[in-house]
Formats: sequence, structure tokens, C-alpha cells
Amino acid sequence: MGFTQEPLVIYWWNARPTTPNTMHLYIYRQVEECLGIEGDWDGLLWYVSDFILRADFVRLAGLWVTDPRRIMLAEDKVNDPSVVSHEIIHDLTNGKASEGDPVFERCEIKPL
Ligand SMILES: [Zn+2]
Repeated sequence: MGFTQEPLVIYWWNARPTTPNTMHLYIYRQVEECLGIEGDWDGLLWYVSDFILRADFVRLAGLWVTDPRRIMLAEDKVNDPSVVSHEIIHDLTNGKASEGDPVFERCEIKPL
């Protein structure tokens, strides 16, 4: 059975720009090394939101979008290495790695 995946609307509340901390930079460099891709750290914007919700009511921990390139994190996930590394993979692959791509399994940071 074939089906078309509809793009889902995503809502967020109280988005504001934020300054990434040294952990975000450290994870960015780790994921660059894992992927073998050199990214543009300085061109990436960071936002934090009270929360992020998909139109089907799935709560998201983070989001990567282009124009301009930015990572938005839910407030309670700002310093979660697995969420941060996941969104950085989207950035470094320029959105080409879709959910479930093996690169996530390989390069996401999963604390023990
Ligand atoms: Zn994702």
C-alpha cells in the first residue's frame, strides 16, 4: 500500500533566540567528526520555545529548519545531548537525512 506523507504543521510557543553553550559546540564538533562533514557553526541560529507541538499532538523535543538555518529546542530539552545531537545531524546533513536514517543511530549521542 502506498501513501503520501503529508507535511505536518508544527506549533511552538514563546520562541526566543538563545546563545548555544559550550556543550552545544562540543556536540556539534563530535557530530561533525562522526559524519565526516564540516558544518557552519557560526551560521546556525539557536532558539528555545516553551514547547513544540505537532498538529497530530505529538510533542517534539526539537526542530531543525532552514531559511535561516536554525535549531529550536523545547525548554526542558535545551541541554539534552541526544536531542541536541539529533538536531545537529539534521543541520550537518542539510535536512537530507530523514527520520530513521542509520546516521541517527550511528552519530546521535546516547548517554548511558
Ligand atoms: Zn528529527
